[in-house]
Amino acid sequence: MSTVQALEPGSRHDLRIGISPDAPDEDKIKDEEGSFGYCHSYETSSRYDGPGLRVVLFVSGCLLRCTYCHNPDTWHLKDGTYVSAQQVLDRLAGFASALRSMDGGLTISGGEVMVQLAFTRRILAGAKKMGLHTAIETSGFLGDRVDESYLSALDMVLLDIKSSDPDTYKKVTGRDLAPTLRFAERLASIGKRVWVRFTLVPGLTDDPANVEGIAKFVAPMKNVEWVEIQPFHQLGAFKWKAMNLEYKHADTHTPTPALISRVLEQFRAEGCRVR
Ligand code: SF4
Repeated sequence: MSTVQALEPGSRHDLRIGISPDAPDEDKIKDEEGSFGYCHSYETSSRYDGPGLRVVLFVSGCLLRCTYCHNPDTWHLKDGTYVSAQQVLDRLAGFASALRSMDGGLTISGGEVMVQLAFTRRILAGAKKMGLHTAIETSGFLGDRVDESYLSALDMVLLDIKSSDPDTYKKVTGRDLAPTLRFAERLASIGKRVWVRFTLVPGLTDDPANVEGIAKFVAPMKNVEWVEIQPFHQLGAFKWKAMNLEYKHADTHTPTPALISRVLEQFRAEGCRVR
């Protein structure tokens, strides 16, 4: 049984490992009540993870293994801090009026938010009660787990579409692409506000056909407000080393301005709003 601890503020770039060694594996967690859960950290002033000023809560647990992940210390619940949802909401309440006045709110990211569905549902519902705008960042891989009430506690979704090509998606994440596309279509069918995020990794996701496939898939979706290109970076490389994981991108460079321009233009050419 994990011990409840205080969640320290910090950054997504902090390395946090081995904090709850008795935690279940992320694919076996029975998170029915949602009163407690595992978190990596939280940031209090992001302007990057949704509209306005955001508190961003990084929860633990992910079933994907993206080769370029900059937070492998969020993969396992064992690495997270075991906290109560009420503690998270109490902290959030302290920022609520500032967040409201800055047109912001709460974003839950990870890891993968849907690994701890009841826990994140409870926090999202609590944030809504405070009158806050709510968002999640997700790969959509577990989108089938989400019911209507979960979606109704969400104002928007930051949806990571890592590839349009099933083989590339498998190479990047170790998992299937189809659930992500299915979740994207479901969000489109209910008109849920979405920002699509695409991580541009030279030599891995930059193939023109791969980019075009995402652009053609997203372009007809009226609910997708922005496509955001996220250039690959090495800020998480030290975590792979510290965790003794095999890192395949030691020699991968950040995308050149020319490559970024090409990709932006590809999205624009299909009619997407992209930045
Ligand atoms: S989905 Fe996100 S947290 Fe999970 S492995 Fe991929 S980049 Fe990392």
